[in-house]
Amino acid sequence: MEKIRTRFAPSPTGFMHLGGLRTALYCYLYSKKHGGDFILRIEDTDQERFVEGAVEVIYSSLNESGICYDEGPDKGGEFGPYVQSERKAIYLEYAKKLVELGGAYYCFCTKERLESLTDENGNRKYDKHCLKLSKEEVEARIAAGEPYVIRQNIPLEGTSVYEDMVFGTISVDYADLEDNILIKSDGLPTYNFANVVDDHLMKISHVIRGTEYLSSTPKYNLMYDTFGWERPHYIHLPIIMKDQTRKLSKRYGDANFDDFVNKGYLPEAIVNYVALLGWSPKENVEKMTMAQMIELFSLDGVSKSPSIFDDVKLRWLNGEYLKELSDEEFLKVATPFFKQSKVYGKYDLLQLSALLKTRVEILSEIPDKINFLEEFGEYDTALFFHKKMKTDAELAKTVLPWIREKLASAPSFDHDTIHDLLIGLATEKEMKNGQILWPARVALSGKDVTPGGAIELALILGKEECLRRIDFSINLLNK
Ligand code: GLU
Repeated sequence: MEKIRTRFAPSPTGFMHLGGLRTALYCYLYSKKHGGDFILRIEDTDQERFVEGAVEVIYSSLNESGICYDEGPDKGGEFGPYVQSERKAIYLEYAKKLVELGGAYYCFCTKERLESLTDENGNRKYDKHCLKLSKEEVEARIAAGEPYVIRQNIPLEGTSVYEDMVFGTISVDYADLEDNILIKSDGLPTYNFANVVDDHLMKISHVIRGTEYLSSTPKYNLMYDTFGWERPHYIHLPIIMKDQTRKLSKRYGDANFDDFVNKGYLPEAIVNYVALLGWSPKENVEKMTMAQMIELFSLDGVSKSPSIFDDVKLRWLNGEYLKELSDEEFLKVATPFFKQSKVYGKYDLLQLSALLKTRVEILSEIPDKINFLEEFGEYDTALFFHKKMKTDAELAKTVLPWIREKLASAPSFDHDTIHDLLIGLATEKEMKNGQILWPARVALSGKDVTPGGAIELALILGKEECLRRIDFSINLLNK
């Protein structure tokens, strides 16, 4: 059986779009599922779009996502170089070969001549003008230093057919295709040419990429056929939509891997979510480790229809991942978010981590969740009213002094002690637990929504701060 080899071939744009991450992931899953190789190739032939540091973004995003390539620019491999700008001579050699085989031709047309081909609707299709030039004339003009490009020679008639492993039979009439440029006047190849040469030379068995290439693939197949090379198998992936009408586009800053990480999503959760954008495992599971994804991945579950990015589901999944972290692990990933809060350095962050890890879905919620620690002052005493708990400000006036007394006398300030003191108080006074716990919670936070109840709040605040806040609240109630 042929060795399965897939490749992820991003252009270094400066960010890792989630659509790209999904392509990389599916390439990885498919190759690993079948014991194959996964290759990273940098497609940087468009020098005008060069972005400083962009290649490093690709490396780090894949690395953080756990998508490991077997061959690539920084890894090496026997089919390198893996950066297209370092392969210039290879493309030129193959382009010349394609010219000899009749699959391409030199073109010397000026910008002005090309512009004159534009029709009344603004469309332009090259008219094969330079195809008619004799070999001698072409050689003489090149020798004279005239600038040229090399174009693909697409037949005027006929239909090209191929099988896509997701989309099925695809047929495109040659008349709908253009004699695109393969080698530009700067001697560098276009994507249209480089992808074919590289996929062949790198022995790529399965080309996995976005649907935008579905209809241009016949052009590439024509080149494979002319060279006498075996065509790869094709797997085109459905588009990802932001909502019913808009594509999740690179222009939206919110569609980049780094932005999600900075907002407090865990790379594992992002990757897991991205896997589900276009693929449903048969077993209907949603939360999966990378190893499980490799095991379950199958093209049968890859959909043709667009998938819609579901923010709520991503948040939920991230929350599930956060819950599973140990307190120490949570602290590690949460530290940048703790630092955004004024509380940083004043409280026990490990204790806060234990409290928060089951209570946030994304880490950026942290500063808000703990702002009760930093600000405490005048608040509306109507907060003491709670219908279900049967409490109000009047009741709070009665119970807060008791609570203060209990906490003041606490021999130690750990969870069990505080719990026993407060619940014991409710029993002693023949009250519902909530009639002690709710007033305590409000008195300690000045808020109705807090991460955790009275006991957790007391633990984090510590004895001294608890007593100070209760005193303040008693005064407020008696104003
Ligand atoms: N460089 C192309 C892109 O970023 C790669 C397409 C392909 O995988 O063939 O869209």
